[in-house]
Amino acid sequence: MKRIGAHVSIAGGVANAPMNAKAIGARAFAMFTKNQRQWRAKPLTGHEIEAFRVAMEQGGFGADDVLPHDSYLINLGHPEAAARQQSLEAFIDELERCRLLGLNRLNFHPGSHLRQISPEACLDAIAESLNRALETVPGVTAVIENTAGQGSNLGHTFEQIAYLIQRIEDKSRIGVCLDTCHAFVSGYELRTRDSYEQTMATFAAEVGFQYLKGMHLNDSKPGLGARVDRHHSIGQGQLGVEPFRWIMNDSRLDGIPLVLETIDETIWPEEIRLLDSLVESPAG
Ligand SMILES: [Zn+2]
Ligand SMILES: [Zn+2]
Repeated sequence: MKRIGAHVSIAGGVANAPMNAKAIGARAFAMFTKNQRQWRAKPLTGHEIEAFRVAMEQGGFGADDVLPHDSYLINLGHPEAAARQQSLEAFIDELERCRLLGLNRLNFHPGSHLRQISPEACLDAIAESLNRALETVPGVTAVIENTAGQGSNLGHTFEQIAYLIQRIEDKSRIGVCLDTCHAFVSGYELRTRDSYEQTMATFAAEVGFQYLKGMHLNDSKPGLGARVDRHHSIGQGQLGVEPFRWIMNDSRLDGIPLVLETIDETIWPEEIRLLDSLVESPAG
């Protein structure tokens, strides 16, 4: 069973996210746990935590249906120690917010070397930051998102993601989120059945589906290998509808949040219905 959702708003408070998801017919969702453009947020109150718990229950969502996303300000591989420490503290705070909300994963972009250090040194710094964060906050899995590889952002190859996982001390606390737009613009072809299977086989060999804790379902404005991060609505970009048909019928992707980050949120209900309609019954 596929759990489709979208990255919904927390305007007015985190407890609004489950209701926003339910309103569009989602069975999973992503959310920020604070304003993603600010380093600091007021700690969650007992009232906010309880309201979120109630809203989750009313919406019929469990922790496994939610893929929170961290702030875009955070760079766990920042070349400068003070800036990296600021990012680590912010990441620890975000893990803690997830834990307090009863959530079990936090999606993040690995980090950027800013052309000041080598990609390897940056990846090593990210792994060290992750190990420190995971030993500080229990119970929440850090979920590495594959990136578009724009600028000096790392994590755009499965090899880099595998490199990070290898260096994480507690492998039960590390996961991966696969973004279809990012994979495609990083050079992973998805537009034919064979190329979809090849890309997924490469993921299985280099990373492993046991680490897959969510996906971002996005069509792409730029072409294959463009290394530019521009999402499009499902079926309206370079990928088209077919890759999403294969995704919707791929049992390796059952039971994890499959989250739309597409550009026109007014059509999210239709996109969810479109994706659900692609599921082929075994009887044909
Ligand atoms: Zn994404
Ligand atoms: Zn993106």
